[in-house]
Amino acid sequence: MSRKALIAANWKMYKTPAEAKAFIEAFLPLVAAHDRDEIAVFPSPVLLPGVVESLKGSAVAVGAQNIYFAEEGAFTGETSVLQLKAVGGTHTLIGHSERRQYFGETDEIVNKKLHTALKHGIVPVVCIGEVLEEREVGETADVLKRQLAGALAGITAEAAAPIVIAYEPVWAIGTGRTATPEMAVEAHKIIRAEAARLLNAEIAANMRILYGGSVKVDNCNSLIGQEEIDGALVGGASLKAESFAAIVKY
Ligand code: PEP
Repeated sequence: MSRKALIAANWKMYKTPAEAKAFIEAFLPLVAAHDRDEIAVFPSPVLLPGVVESLKGSAVAVGAQNIYFAEEGAFTGETSVLQLKAVGGTHTLIGHSERRQYFGETDEIVNKKLHTALKHGIVPVVCIGEVLEEREVGETADVLKRQLAGALAGITAEAAAPIVIAYEPVWAIGTGRTATPEMAVEAHKIIRAEAARLLNAEIAANMRILYGGSVKVDNCNSLIGQEEIDGALVGGASLKAESFAAIVKY
């Protein structure tokens, strides 16, 4: 089974427009000859039009870190999928653990956002993962299954093909602690088996499952190099062009 890897940069709430432009000017030459994998960057909403403009003519995709599930309306502070599309965004993160932790996103909200993204042809990267206490008491598999089932509720196998899952153990995000390749592979196998049960075997076999959680230049090979790991969602190490390019070229 050959799944094209996706290496994605989550810039979180970092970078001004000038810093984003400088990143892209430094980054593109470093990955100019690289077409093995897909690359995507996820900047803050205010940066989206400028980043799309700076990346014009390259193969690097641009996505939002979050979208709202309604198409438009009186939802102060939110960004709609239609606005994302209108400025040239093609992807979105959904249910990042920071959204779940600080902004109260539930599996139900994640599910509504996933329906909206799929309806409008936006590639969704759905983030799931256990917190440390859940891992320590042996609940990782249950959490992953619950979050995946919650996200996929009401989504048919036919509609599910574009979905990308990011396995992000919450205890590894921004902490410098990484899952070992064995831990990540085990989690990815659980996710893929559950996707096969909820959707079907073919969709699950083709579904890209990324690993995220303190991916750095010095650990990316051992993680993304695994057959079960179809790329990475990178936070801290995606902020510098040199380190993100080195991860892209793992
Ligand atoms: C993330 O933001 O999804 C992430 C994995 O961050 P970091 O790489 O900094 O742990």
